[in-house]
Amino acid sequence: MGTDFVHLHVHSEYSLLDGAGRIKELVRRACELEMPALALTDHGVMYGIVEFYETCTEVGIKPLLGCEIYYTTKSRFDRGSRQYAEASHLLLLCENEIGYRNLIKIVSKAHLEGFYYKPRADKELLAEYHEGLIATSACLASPICKAILQDDLPTAERLACEFREIFGHDNFFLELQNHGLPEQRKVNEALIAMSQKLRIPLIVTNDVHYVRAEDAQAQEVLLAINTGAKTLEDEDRFRFKSHEFYLKSADEMRALFPDHPEALARTIEIAERCTCRLPLGEPQMPHYEVPEGLTTEEFLRRLCYERLPQRYPEPSDEVKKRLEYELQVICQKGYAGYFLIVWDIVRYARSRGILVGPGRGSAAGCLVSYVLGITNIDPLKYGLMFERFLNPERQSSPDIDLDFPDERREEIIAYVRHKYGEDHVAQIVTFGTLQARAAVRDSGRVLKIDPNLVDRVAKLIPMKLSLAEALEMSFELRDLYESDPQIRQWLDTAKAIEGLARHASTHPCGVVIGNRPLIDLVPLQRGHDGGVITQYDGASVEKVGLVKMDFLGLRNSTIIGRTVQLVQETEGITIDLNNLPLDDPKTYAMLSEGHTVGVFQMEKTGWRKLLRELKPDRFEHLVPLVALYRPGPMEDIPVFVRRRHGEPIEYLHPKLEPILRDTFGVMLYQEQVMRIANELAGFSMPQAEILMRAMGKKKADLMEKMRPLFLEGAVNNGVSREVAEQIWERMSAFAQYAFNKSHSAAYALVAYQTAYLKANFPVQYMTAFLSANRNLREDRRRLGRMSADENSRPTARHQQKRLRLSH
Ligand SMILES: [Zn+2]
Ligand SMILES: [Zn+2]
Repeated sequence: MGTDFVHLHVHSEYSLLDGAGRIKELVRRACELEMPALALTDHGVMYGIVEFYETCTEVGIKPLLGCEIYYTTKSRFDRGSRQYAEASHLLLLCENEIGYRNLIKIVSKAHLEGFYYKPRADKELLAEYHEGLIATSACLASPICKAILQDDLPTAERLACEFREIFGHDNFFLELQNHGLPEQRKVNEALIAMSQKLRIPLIVTNDVHYVRAEDAQAQEVLLAINTGAKTLEDEDRFRFKSHEFYLKSADEMRALFPDHPEALARTIEIAERCTCRLPLGEPQMPHYEVPEGLTTEEFLRRLCYERLPQRYPEPSDEVKKRLEYELQVICQKGYAGYFLIVWDIVRYARSRGILVGPGRGSAAGCLVSYVLGITNIDPLKYGLMFERFLNPERQSSPDIDLDFPDERREEIIAYVRHKYGEDHVAQIVTFGTLQARAAVRDSGRVLKIDPNLVDRVAKLIPMKLSLAEALEMSFELRDLYESDPQIRQWLDTAKAIEGLARHASTHPCGVVIGNRPLIDLVPLQRGHDGGVITQYDGASVEKVGLVKMDFLGLRNSTIIGRTVQLVQETEGITIDLNNLPLDDPKTYAMLSEGHTVGVFQMEKTGWRKLLRELKPDRFEHLVPLVALYRPGPMEDIPVFVRRRHGEPIEYLHPKLEPILRDTFGVMLYQEQVMRIANELAGFSMPQAEILMRAMGKKKADLMEKMRPLFLEGAVNNGVSREVAEQIWERMSAFAQYAFNKSHSAAYALVAYQTAYLKANFPVQYMTAFLSANRNLREDRRRLGRMSADENSRPTARHQQKRLRLSH
């Protein structure tokens, strides 16, 4: 290993308002300092572990997984009076996978059983789950150091011996820190003496709370926000008494401890001993109880064939072949249980009269979902592809999102908890972040900037924009920034804390179901309503293999459901949403006039104009609209409209006609790219899907490899080389704008449903629509800003990327 020191005591932003270091920046800095390894030891939580592990692995630094836990010398179950609020610090690092599993248990139980002001672990918990963990005595707030500071050396020594007993002679260390605090001088002297007397080895750490020395002010502001202090001069508040809590170089650390090279070197030894690897990407499929005598796969198969006649009274060979193929892939990948679980949830919802959306995302391309009633759009009729949903040649997990009315989601979650067991089911954490305006206001208050000025500046920052973007957009803001050094310093501090995680809360939609108690798989804690939630966010729980289900709440589900109910009550008509006539002239006449207030997706002015020009008269005209009305494809709207009204279409090759006819020769869908590769160049569907992804993400090396295969395949199919090259060029230029047709079709169906109800039952529909809008403000307050946009997936920070990829 390169240098002779490794940081074993590091806090990130996930120490929530007690850490200003973003994981990526901490890792990048450790790289610059040529450190071979880096630890992550946030306060009492493991929030950042997966992100940290991946970031380190990417750049080739060894990740050391850990936690600075809170420890009580009493029982973790004791609470109720001030004396039990004691929570000292203790640092734990995972030496191996057993240690990782044990750390999860300790941290989770500290939250679930020991929470009193802080999540507290006790001796009993450590004794039970010590295996595979390395412990160090932590900072001035550790029980040992507290005893030393009270001149109670016997207690300090007793505690040190206890920890050594618990963790083992080779797995407990005394930790020296030097941030220039007078208390540390006293503590270090005692620790050094204790180390000799008790033969407990020393290590050296820096209590890292931010990346660089100049971030100290940002950390101060964060702490002030955290503790509710008014200003930095507020003497009472807890504060860092020096500016030394950054990621120091090995040279700097050596200079702090010139007499203890062995304690510095020992950090390298510990880093070498820690070999914990996170098992990422290994699916932990939950178990679904099937009737006796059947395997999960057999039961799924039986259900599908039982239900097939309801969807296809006389199934064609194409249908039968597709169903067999899908079942084979699903079963082979071990996902049969997943489909049964989703089917069961949908069945439960319907049995309770809870409206289920027709589907969304790529799941609409799956025939098995359609046959089971999980989705409600015929994938064969609309050319939706299974491989877009589940590609047998690629590592991919099934991801079916379900739509339920907001106000009934709780019932579904309660059902899942009951069915799979309280300890097998949890909701998922999400992190609120400091938005630009809040960062400006908070840091302005703490830095004692004139409140009027704070207000003026905050109002110059548009919602949803970052401070950097706002500085670029607003001359007034930039003038202030450039003309006044005090303002500049303030806004720089705001920039440093902007976007940091500030609190953890429960994601309203996501649920994970484990194949064993979740505490064996992920760290847990409680959410604001007392329910158990994972400490890993949505993206991370999936990476550790857990199956996540999103129960989304479309406001439109509520409106549709209420309309159906009102029509039943007032006119005695039962509307079967699953079998609406898709050729209703009234509906198309209304849409063609642009009367779309209250119609899903199509309310905006631009949409109304588009509909008036297009004059749709069949469902196939609606499907492309969701894909067309986006930046990029939008430029093709005039062509699209002209061709819809009869302008002739010229195809590069006659074989393209059946593929592009539905979109009037305009390439719109990912599925079209796949079909071209399949039908013109003879790619298998799984390969076509891989090509589509490679093109969409501009993966040059992969495209280079596939290009000759495509050209050769096309030429063999009777396409001239010149035309094949042209098609390739157009496809690869267009693919990044391509849209998921399954999603487009599913949304078009919801839009059609709302339009149909509005056109045929206007009074009932508008009544339901207005009352839902009245409740909207209330709902938004309840759900927080996470689901403020009712038409989109609630966007926790880490989900935003997925949103762009999958929709
Ligand atoms: Zn500490
Ligand atoms: Zn610490």
